[in-house]
This record gives sequence, C-alpha cells and structure tokens, in this order.
Amino acid sequence: MKTPRDIEVKFVKGIGPARAKLLEEELKIRTCHDLLNHFPSHYVDRTQIYLIRNFSGEMPSVQIKGRFVTFTTQGEGAKMRLVGLFSDGTATMEVVWFKRIKALKDLYQTGREYIVFGKPQEFNGRWSMVHPEVDPPESAAATGGLRGIYPLTEKLRNRGISSRNIFMWIQNALSAIKDIPETLPPEVIERYRLTGRDRAMREVHNPQDNGSLQRARERLKFEELFYLQLNIQRFSHHRASSVQGIPFPRIGRFFNGFYSEVLPFPLTDAQKRVLREIRKDVGSGKQMNRLVQGDVGSGKTIVALMAMLMALDNGTQACLMAPTEILATQHYETLRALVAPLGVNVRLLTGSTRKKDRDIIHRELEDGSLHILVGTHALIEDNVRFRRLGFVVIDEQHRFGVMQRARLWQKNTQVPHVLVMTATPIPRTLAMTVYGDLDVSVIDELPPGRKPITTLLRYDNQRTDVYRAIGRELSKGRQVYIVYPLIQENEKLDLRSLEEGYEIIKDSFPSYRVVYVHGKMKPSEKDFQMKLFAEHKADIMVATTVIEVGVNVPNASTMVIENAERFGLSQLHQLRGRVGRGAEQSYCVLMTKNRIAGDTRKRLELMTSTTDGFLIAEADMKMRGPGDIEGTLQSGIPFDLHIANIATDGQLVELARECACDILDADPPLTAPGHEMLLPELKQLYSRQFDLSRIS
Ligand code: ADP
Ligand code: MG
Repeated sequence: MKTPRDIEVKFVKGIGPARAKLLEEELKIRTCHDLLNHFPSHYVDRTQIYLIRNFSGEMPSVQIKGRFVTFTTQGEGAKMRLVGLFSDGTATMEVVWFKRIKALKDLYQTGREYIVFGKPQEFNGRWSMVHPEVDPPESAAATGGLRGIYPLTEKLRNRGISSRNIFMWIQNALSAIKDIPETLPPEVIERYRLTGRDRAMREVHNPQDNGSLQRARERLKFEELFYLQLNIQRFSHHRASSVQGIPFPRIGRFFNGFYSEVLPFPLTDAQKRVLREIRKDVGSGKQMNRLVQGDVGSGKTIVALMAMLMALDNGTQACLMAPTEILATQHYETLRALVAPLGVNVRLLTGSTRKKDRDIIHRELEDGSLHILVGTHALIEDNVRFRRLGFVVIDEQHRFGVMQRARLWQKNTQVPHVLVMTATPIPRTLAMTVYGDLDVSVIDELPPGRKPITTLLRYDNQRTDVYRAIGRELSKGRQVYIVYPLIQENEKLDLRSLEEGYEIIKDSFPSYRVVYVHGKMKPSEKDFQMKLFAEHKADIMVATTVIEVGVNVPNASTMVIENAERFGLSQLHQLRGRVGRGAEQSYCVLMTKNRIAGDTRKRLELMTSTTDGFLIAEADMKMRGPGDIEGTLQSGIPFDLHIANIATDGQLVELARECACDILDADPPLTAPGHEMLLPELKQLYSRQFDLSRIS
C-alpha cells in the first residue's frame, strides 16, 4: 500500500511539477507526508461575517460578504496596482492587489457575491485589505468554522501562492489518501488516550471545533516529542548497557579527611543531595554522565571537589576543565588551598604552561603521582595521558562541544565518570532534550548569609543619580563594573560606545583607577587588566561581556549594564552573578534609553523582581524560543519541530520522555509485537543518526 511518504506532491490535484519544485525549494515539501506535516501556525474563526461599518482600531483577519462595485488599475510600472471597491451594503472598502493584476482582473466580476477574507487596515480614514482571499460563497474554501493559516515564504507569496492554496492542496491530498498509517503503538494510544493519526491529521487541517482541534494537536505534538525522546533515549540506553563505569566502592581518607578537617562550612541541603546522587551513580558500576545546574555562587566547586576526592579514594585520578585560562587558574588556586592539608597533588595545565612544568605534569600523570589536573582545553590535547583517569569535571559545559566531551572519554580504556557543571540554568524540559543523555542534578539553594543583589532599572535621564550612587560605593572602598554590549554585526559602533564610556567614566571619577577590557584585546593584555581589577589595583572595570565567565572579585559590589535591552535575560543573569559574591549589599543597575517598548520593559522588570535563574531561564525561553537559549546551540537537537514546542509544551515533553523510556526498558531492540512501526519511523525521521555504532 502506498503511504503519504511514497506520493510526491506534484501528483496532488492542483499542484503540478512547477509548484512542486517551488514547494520543495522553499518549504522542503516533497511528498504528501511533508505536505501534511506543514501545519497551520494559527487558526482564524470563519464562523462570523463582519460588517465594514463596524471596523475599528487594530483588527484581526476577518471575513466580509458583499460585491465589487468597480475595478481600477492605478499607478504605473512596478507601482501598478489593481483596486477593487468592495461594498457589503453597510459601507465600502478598497481591496488592493500588487501582483497578478491581469489574471485577477479577469477572474473577479463586479456585481457577483464574494466572501473576502483578510486583515483590514485603516489609512486616512479609509479601510482597505491587501491581497485578501476572495471566494464565491459556495466554495469549500469560504465555508467552515476554524481555518488554518499556513506559514509561507516571501518567494511563495510573490509567486501567488497563498495560505488558501496550501489549504486546498492539503484537502485534495487528504481526500486522495484512504488511511494515514498509525505511527504510535496501540498500547501508547490507549495509555495516553490519544486520537488516532488519521483522524488527528484530518482534524488539524480542517477542524470541526476547538475541542477536537486541541485533541488533534496534542496527539501530533506527542508523536513528534515521543520520537525525539525515543531517539535520544535509545543512545543512552545503548550506552548504559554497553559501557561499563569504573566502580568507586570506597569512601576513604581523602573524602573523609576533607569532610571532617578541612571543609570550612556546613554544606547546604542542595549540595548534600547532589553529592548523594553522584555517590549513588559512581558506586553502582555504571558510568556516570551527570549535569549539575546551579546558579552562580551556589557552590558547585565544592561539590565537584568532593566528587573528585571520591575518585582519589578509589585509586584513580581526576581532572577539571574550564573554558578560560583565568577561570582555570582560579579553580586551581581554590582547589590547591583546600586540599593542601590532605597531601593531594594538584597541578595546572593551560596553553601558557611552560615546557619544564609541562614535562613534570606529563611524567606525574603517567606514573600516577598527580592526583588532580586542572586546566583549559589544553587537557584534551593528545599527548596528555593519565595513568588511570576516573573522574572528569567540566565547568561551564556549553563552551565545550559534545565532541570535546567524547575526546576526554577516550583518555582511558575504561570510560571515566563525567560531571558537567553549568551556571546557565535551563528549564527542566529543555534540559531533558538538550542534555537528554545526561542525568540532571540541581543545586537550587544558595549558601546562607548572602544578601540578595538589588537590581534597578534606570533610564538615561537618571544617569546623574546613578553616577552619584557609584561614587558612594567607590568611597566605601568597593569596586564597580560597567558593562557594554558587544554585538557582532555592529562591532565598530559598539567598540566606540565602549571607548566613549571609558572616557566619560574616567572624567567622572578622576580620583579612581579605571581599567578597560574587551574581546578584541590580546589575551595577555586582557588578563593583565583583569588581574589589576582582581587585585584591587583598579576600582572600576569598563568591559564588554568578556567578564561574563570567570572573574571572582568579592569586593565588587556594583554592576552597571549599559543598553541592557540588548541583552538576553539569561545573559543579564549571568552578568549579574559577578557581583554579590561578598558579604556586602550589592547592586545591579540596568540602564536603558528613556523610551523602551512595553515588552522590553516587561523583560527588564522581571530581572528586577527575581534573582531565580531558573525562573529567568524559563521566561527567556518562552520569549525567545528554545533554539536561542545559550547552551542549546551546539546540542544538535532539531528545534525546528513541526508542531510541538519545547518551550511551551513542557508537560508533553515529560510524558513523551516517560513513554519512550518505558518502551525502551520493556523492549530495548524495539522489535516486540505492536512496536513494528518504531524502527522504520525512527529511521525516516533521524536517518543520519540512525546507526548506533557511530557513537560511543
Ligand atoms: P559556583 O556555583 O558559582 O561555582 P562556587 O563554588 O564558586 O560557586 O562558590 C561560591 C562561594 O561560596 C565560594 O566562595 C565558596 O567557598 C562558597 N560556598 C560554597 N558552598 C558553601 C556553603 N555550603 N556555605 C558557605 N559558603 C559556601
Ligand atoms: Mg563556578
């Protein structure tokens, strides 16, 4: 039997070879299956006929019923347009076309009744519609309650293809296809009470009412998310069964010594919980792949250190990899100070480590006397060989790609446990997808005694007050960051505003020392300036977002972010985390132009009302869509889903994941009766990643 995947769209009534070619080029629609998976982006209510007399204000797309009184062509050449005067008996409006003028003039007649559907616009007190849909009342396109509006490209529109054409073609395809094959196992349909696929497809393209439309959409979303999760989970199930972890049965002198003699403060409950989760993994004989998400300052480093000490207690080595040299150095210094009393040998390896020290590191790694190696991605260079690497910590993982993670695994015949730490909280459902192969732990509690950062939204005309406040902080001996956005497309301009800002700050605070850092500087120069600030040899740092990662200067109490509206929320949150690291009250001032749009103001006001990174990430994802959230870009996860939306369909993501896991648990090869459709469907959807042998 032919399925929609076997039928090319050029055979669908109304399409033909030329349009089929356009559809493929513009929308990647080649088969009927593709066509049916081109879902409406929204629906309009076509149960109501509006009256022109009642048009007012900002109008949605509406339909009206009436007759053309006259047609005239106006303008010349490229500006030529066809204008129809349309009356519904209550008033008149103009209907305007800029394209296909001749064909349309022949097509529509004055005096005949039409249903016109489009978005009314008001201009100089006259209403008009540009390129509306025009149909005789008896046409299929003009009837029906809810009508899908289909996404199109500019080119398709220019070629005269409208949402209505797509609608008609889909109707034609649907009536030619007897039965759209089911792609979910019967047990799944039953368990989650889903609409069958054939019914859902017909409903979503031609809804009877809102209730059945919602059920149809839910079914199709579930299906899409289910296969996405099945594909991700298949890999981790495969790895779990084929890769053996290094078992850490012992808790010994390193861990216990640290806990009872060195640890300078009690752990928070969240830190304890995450340590228990890690302990459970590494004790189990399976290989751990765990992501620890925790806001800036939540104390991830101590957790990572204690996990590394477990590795040492079991006769293996550990390493910690950080994205920048400064951050690696800071980690190294923190760790070394903490473990010195225990006789743990820690060393630092970065791009600028001298040959002599490098040789010592290589030797000690191979003879096993080096316990913990801290560094940048110099760690994954080929000539770095461990005697027995048992535990890998990666800080700020999104700066490292998945491939780099895999290269660390290859440093040992037995795969080490991997702990990824990130201060970019991402919503749980997104984490389930982006880090589908990682288990997720969350440190959702800050150590006690921190004063929450006070965040303020201020406008350019309040600058004098802001500078006065900066002056007050400086006079108390505190340090201040001033941050400028640097956005690729506009680099020159941005750099200029940074330089101007630097001059203004120097003039405004003549008795204080100001440094200046941006991404275009030589790394050595940048490090030098940052170090001046870190050692309090400078009071004010004017910088671009290069300070986002790394620097820890507890004495810095204030951050001013210029043009705050140009940053994403998650990024603002990251930046803000640079202050509030000491015991003092800290401030973050978001500066914007005097006039900002309402939704921009809303975004920034959210920043002033909460310091909860998860809440901010959630809001950011809803506003910008999941594909734009930092940390998701290199994931390789296709975010251009057809109908589901990871940002807003969180609950369905969880159900789909649960369902995929249950099926894989019960039937790992996916070949049990009732599951016949699973492998072929996966192969169709994810053909490029289908072969399990290609990944570790
Ligand atoms: P991040 O999660 O941002 O990496 P860090 O690990 O750098 O946070 O910790 C931030 C600061 O909090 C450090 O100075 C650290 O010593 C301190 N800290 C960590 N855990 C606790 C705790 N349980 N109680 C008090 N201070 C803590
Ligand atoms: Mg950290």
